Amino acid sequence: QTCALPILTGVKNRRGFDLALATELNEARTSHKPISLIMADIDHFKQVNDRHGHTTGDEVLKWFSNILGRNVKGRDVVARYGGEEFAIILPQTPAEAATRLANQIKAHVEARDFTLLGAGRISIKVTSSFGVAQWREGESTDLLIKRADAKLYEAKAAGRNRVAA
Ligand code: GH3
Ligand code: MG
Ligand code: MG
Repeated sequence: QTCALPILTGVKNRRGFDLALATELNEARTSHKPISLIMADIDHFKQVNDRHGHTTGDEVLKWFSNILGRNVKGRDVVARYGGEEFAIILPQTPAEAATRLANQIKAHVEARDFTLLGAGRISIKVTSSFGVAQWREGESTDLLIKRADAKLYEAKAAGRNRVAA
C-alpha cells in the first residue's frame, strides 16, 4: 500500500539524515564527546489511517514531527527515517540525557490529543515509542542505528508508549 509523502517542515529526509549522522559521528570521533541517537515511531499508526483516512494520517505525521522539532535545540537533527519512523541525532549528549529527552517527548505526545478542526472536529489519542542508543567508540554507523532500532523494538514489544535505552 502506497501513501502520500507529506512534506514535513524542518525535518530532514533519509539522505539528509545519513549525511548529518556521518558528519556528527566524525565530530564525535575526533572530539571524544558522546553522541546519541533516538529512533521514534508512532504507535498503531496504521489504525489512524484505517479509521480516519490517509489525509488525516498525514496531518498526524506533521503534528508529530512538529513536536519532535519543538523539543530539540542547537545542533540536534530531526529526520524522517522511514514512513512514520523518525530519528533524532543528539551531538554531545550521553544516553541518560537522550533518554530524558525521549521521555519528555513521549509525555508531550501522550498529553495532547491530535485535533483536526473543520467539519466535525476529530480528536485522536496518539502515543509513540522510542529507542535510545549512545554511540560506542569504534562502532559503525549501521550498528548504532541497529542498536537504537532494536531498543525501539523492545519498547514496542513491552507494550508501546515507552522509551527503551
Ligand atoms: P506499531 O505500533 O508497531 O508501530 O504499529 P504501526 O501501525 O504504527 O506500524 P506499521 O509499520 O504496521 O504501520 C505503519 C503505517 O504507516 C503503514 C503505512 O501505511 C503508514 N504510513 C507510512 N508513511 C505514511 C505517510 O506518509 N502517510 C500516511 N498517512 N501513512 C503512512
Ligand atoms: Mg508505528
Ligand atoms: Mg513504523
